[in-house]
Amino acid sequence: MSAICSQSAIDAKALRADFPILASQVYGKPLVYFDNAATTQKPQVVIDAISKAYATCNANVHRGVHYLSQQATQAHEDAREVVRDFIHAASSDEIIFTRGTTESINLVAFSFGEAFCQPGDEILISGMEHHSNIVPWQMLCQRKGMTLKVIPFDEKGCLKIDEYAALLGPKVKLVAVTQVSNVLGTINPVAEIIRLAHAQQIPVLVDGAQGAAHLSVDVQALDADFYAFSAHKLYGPTGLGVLYGKRALLEAMPPYQGGGEMIDQVYYSHSTYNQLPYKFEAGTPDFIGTTAFTAALRYVQNIGMDKIARYEDELLQYATEKMQAIEGLHIIGQAEHKSAVISFVIDGIHPYDLGLLLDKLGIAIRTGHHCAQPLLESMGYEVCARASFSFYNTFDEIDTLVAALLRIQKMFK
Ligand code: PMP
Repeated sequence: MSAICSQSAIDAKALRADFPILASQVYGKPLVYFDNAATTQKPQVVIDAISKAYATCNANVHRGVHYLSQQATQAHEDAREVVRDFIHAASSDEIIFTRGTTESINLVAFSFGEAFCQPGDEILISGMEHHSNIVPWQMLCQRKGMTLKVIPFDEKGCLKIDEYAALLGPKVKLVAVTQVSNVLGTINPVAEIIRLAHAQQIPVLVDGAQGAAHLSVDVQALDADFYAFSAHKLYGPTGLGVLYGKRALLEAMPPYQGGGEMIDQVYYSHSTYNQLPYKFEAGTPDFIGTTAFTAALRYVQNIGMDKIARYEDELLQYATEKMQAIEGLHIIGQAEHKSAVISFVIDGIHPYDLGLLLDKLGIAIRTGHHCAQPLLESMGYEVCARASFSFYNTFDEIDTLVAALLRIQKMFK
């Protein structure tokens, strides 16, 4: 039992009972799941929502006059409203369902690019982006003869806001930044970033893949123009994501993909398009997934995102202190404002060896470049290890990780 007790009102041990997978054993050891930045585990209510939807209201949405189709459509559209409420958007017409953060960003890179970008223009991203907030912009720049510029960050992992302000100018058509770095854990000052961009009429896309799972999000208070996130990192199903966009921008953007649902009238000569949000939702949506996502969002809202953030911060502080005390362990990302992610290396131990040995002790961490190769390279690393926490993790599990790291270090000595 660890010496520390949570000051927040979260009872992680009780909440763990809602997640069946957390009771499993790996190689005869209790599972310690510290790969939450990659994907989160699912509470029973989400698992049940999926089988209930298939068992009771499986029919294609928006198309049928029959009872089941109407039930399914209602559940799907209710989910849109639950998402709207979760991120405090003004209208559910501004909530577009996608396959995930990656598809949300690709949608904007394509459609915004078609509507607003010309050769010679610039897109501004930060030096701590996930590949999915780099490559779509790179592709847009290649397509249109534009330039991708990068906001630098300091040795602690904080964006250099002065240099960012200096990069803004009439050529910049859009700023795309992550709210929380999946490697450094840095919580970026997105409200300030947006304010500075808006002073020059430049819209901002926020990659909320990590942010939405750990912080309360209010897209209107942030004044974000686009906000992208994934259900699977928020205790919901895989293959589902959200793009929030301000109505005026979405209205001015052409569709991303063609097909059913996104049309109004179709002729061989041309087609007219559906209204928002359907204009951007070609084909059968993942209506089972959206129903399950409703259950996930209600589950975390019931706990309270502020409480979750407070508890995860306690875990972060505790783990940081314990891990920093290990000789030869270096934490990558030391921002004051951090989310519950600790990337690290240990002298003399390759991160892959570390990951494999921890796995044998039942501890799941991530090793690799974490889909942020330019970020790691700029800090002089090829790969690193990463432990990322959720509200269902405990201080005892952190003690287990620290003991395992010391044991592995001893083996290597
Ligand atoms: N951005 C960030 C910051 C992420 O952490 C991730 C997932 N690791 C993504 C984007 C991509 O999310 P997805 O794979 O769910 O599309």
